[in-house]
Amino acid sequence: MLTVLNALKLATEYFEKKAIQSARINAELLLAHLLNCKRLDLYLRFDQPLAESEVEHYRHMIARRGKYEPVQYIIGCTEFYGLQFEVNASVLIPRPETEILVETIINRYKFSDRLKILDIGCGSGNISVALAKNLHAAEIFSIDISEEVLKVARTNAAKNHVANVQFLKGDIIANGLLSDHSFDLIVSNPPYVSEKEYNSLQKEITMHEPKQAVTDNEDGLMFYRRISDYAKTSLTDDGYLYFEIGHGQSQDVKFIMIENGFKEIQIVKDYQQIDRVIYGVKS
Ligand code: GLN
Repeated sequence: MLTVLNALKLATEYFEKKAIQSARINAELLLAHLLNCKRLDLYLRFDQPLAESEVEHYRHMIARRGKYEPVQYIIGCTEFYGLQFEVNASVLIPRPETEILVETIINRYKFSDRLKILDIGCGSGNISVALAKNLHAAEIFSIDISEEVLKVARTNAAKNHVANVQFLKGDIIANGLLSDHSFDLIVSNPPYVSEKEYNSLQKEITMHEPKQAVTDNEDGLMFYRRISDYAKTSLTDDGYLYFEIGHGQSQDVKFIMIENGFKEIQIVKDYQQIDRVIYGVKS
């Protein structure tokens, strides 16, 4: 009979052999999901024997994690801005850094009574759903190029009971989608890893997350150029453009925004003191 404690030990050892970071926590997260309990509750159940079917299921999860699949894809969900999001391998896993982008926007707009927002490259819908939940006056248009991705985003909007988001498929710039609208706010967390940097990312990302959500296959700045150029004509006169940015990109992106006529550029740091969010006003 395999107990909870022994199962955790075996899984931890296996993950350590595979050089997976935070091996024990990973083992615990997977088992807690399987047993439908909180991670810390496992500590009250160390002696509990696992049923054969549970062992089998756990073994399967461990094998997936051993191939560097992120825990979030294995358990099918993650938390973002205090909300639950479904994820699968078609979408980027929402990152804690992106919460800073959402929070910066909410702080500025929480008292607005009219607000039309465009979210470019919505992925799992994390940014749009978190904004919709916290900005009740907002009317949000959320776009992505993949129908598979939009399916996940729509599920997340429904799961979190938000109705003020419309999800649309297309390349906003190439297709002239929504060209008869002007927005008070455009937000994007675009693929910002350069082609050169991409191969040095951790295996969890390069082997499992969608490549087109991570890199632009160029210098990492392509989408900042395209979106800034697009935003200068599709924002209202006092409209704002907000981006998440990667490590070391703030001065380049600031320059791109200024070149496109954006003013009062502000930069917000993340918890590691890395420039993470940049925004500016059209005029
Ligand atoms: N908007 C989503 C996020 O911030 C997806 C971003 C992306 O796929 N590049 O996580």
